[in-house]
Amino acid sequence: MIQKTGIGVSPGAVVAEAAVLRHTALSIEHIPSDDTEGELSVLSSAYDSALSSLDSLIAVSDDEKSMLAILRTMLSDPEYLSLIRENITERKYNAAWAVEAATEKYASELDKLGDGYFSERASDIRDAGYILIESIQGFMISAFHLTKPSVLVADYLLPSEFLRMDRQYLKGLCLDGGGKASHMAILARSADIPAVFALSDFSSMVEEGAVIAVDGRDGTVVLDPQRKVLSEYRKRSDAAARDEAELKKDAGLPAETLDGYRIRLMCNIEGLEGIDGAIASGSEGIGLFRTEFLALQSDYLENGEKMDHVYQEAVERMSACGPVTFRTYDIGGDKALNGMKINEENPILGWRAVRFCMENRDMFRRQLVSILRASAYSDSVRIMFPMISGSEELREVLSFFDEVKEECRKNGTAFDENIKIGTMIEVPSAAITADILADYVDFMSIGTNDLIQYTIAVDRGNEKISYLYRPLHPAVLRLLKYVVDSAKAKGVTVSMCGEMAGDPDYLPILVGMGFDELSMSAHSILESKKRIRMLDKSCCTRFVNHVLSLSDAASVEEALKEFLDTYGKA
Ligand code: PEP
Ligand code: MG
Repeated sequence: MIQKTGIGVSPGAVVAEAAVLRHTALSIEHIPSDDTEGELSVLSSAYDSALSSLDSLIAVSDDEKSMLAILRTMLSDPEYLSLIRENITERKYNAAWAVEAATEKYASELDKLGDGYFSERASDIRDAGYILIESIQGFMISAFHLTKPSVLVADYLLPSEFLRMDRQYLKGLCLDGGGKASHMAILARSADIPAVFALSDFSSMVEEGAVIAVDGRDGTVVLDPQRKVLSEYRKRSDAAARDEAELKKDAGLPAETLDGYRIRLMCNIEGLEGIDGAIASGSEGIGLFRTEFLALQSDYLENGEKMDHVYQEAVERMSACGPVTFRTYDIGGDKALNGMKINEENPILGWRAVRFCMENRDMFRRQLVSILRASAYSDSVRIMFPMISGSEELREVLSFFDEVKEECRKNGTAFDENIKIGTMIEVPSAAITADILADYVDFMSIGTNDLIQYTIAVDRGNEKISYLYRPLHPAVLRLLKYVVDSAKAKGVTVSMCGEMAGDPDYLPILVGMGFDELSMSAHSILESKKRIRMLDKSCCTRFVNHVLSLSDAASVEEALKEFLDTYGKA
């Protein structure tokens, strides 16, 4: 039996067999395969997905269009494809090996013809082969079919890999790296899958099929647990289900403090699958629809009608609960499109979100049109722009949005003329100029995941420095207070949609500061509502004034602990 403690990122306890995924093992193995049909089917799915990735890239890229088109032509060469198939059927190569061998044969023949034009074509074909092999290996992950309830143990997992997996048997997740505010953690919480990250070399210790107990609340995992430990984890799992059922009884009550301060609790979702959970938890709307996750898993970028339908369905299904806030694509950083190669030194500070969208205007325009069309079905659709760094950038984005609205008016596309416009506040420069940004918007929503990352210069997904990722750092608290006060002074609604909003222990501070709305995973709503109903707003306001006078995160954490001990955590 081995016990390890990492960071519990998604609550819940589970005991199941391990399914192990090691990316490091995904190099090309020259091992023959008798499963000709299986290899051909992997090839064909990977081939389709590689072509559609290239098509998406061609659609959005300006500079590299012709180079990408060459790669597409290479990949579509029937002789090349038939040589790959022959390698599988006659030589019994596995799919990746078959592509590698065919690519090398073609490329080396071209190399022999001399330098210049021919060696450039040889390098193109190697690139094309590389894309196909990447796709085969990616497809192997997406085809990581679980056939029974399992805990997935991996060195790491990309959001796009998770989204492409069939998740019906995925009962728990253990990763060697990662932090609580990483996108993978957010996805695990949204999907209600108990997860523990930052387990260092755990994946190398686990054999396929070994029994693992996971507790995503306290961050412990036990490999090959003894009978006593097993029954303890099973009890924890039953207790979590009972607590949840108990909390659900109060789903219909308002989130209101003892002295009558009402706060709107909303849900963060990544797609339509989050809506049932939002409704069941009594959510009063969607405070953050991370639309880029749809683009990561399917062909929404090319298929505008599909996007129209999804957005419209979200709005219709939520119409009895409250607004739906569509955040425009936050593509880039750790959310690269399938096949998008990011050659940036610092992608998190790089070409992402509105910076990316404003350079890919056709793609951006199509999304804005979908959001506008959805707004015709309800008067509570809201649009919000990510990664805004200051008023010039916000003005440019808003002026493009005005252009798109004007085009819609001209061609008779119905939309809500009063659609509410918001900006995310997740870059320190935006927080510090919140008083200026407030003049342009109806609401502001603080994305603490990025705001903390950029303010303290601490990567939100890096477990080695997670000790520095402190939501209660005085610098963060001062920024939050400044944004709330600036919004209030201008009569602008102020929300928080980062993960800090979903941790009920922070509520005395968020209520005391005067947030109008908090948006979180469905899982957190019930507990948060219960806690808000136990708080007194004026007492929280006094508490905020006190913590703002403290000089470091540890002192604030200590003060909050005392507050929670005194006023009840329930
Ligand atoms: C945030 O940064 O807090 C946020 C809500 O956006 P995301 O987590 O998608 O970066
Ligand atoms: Mg963000």
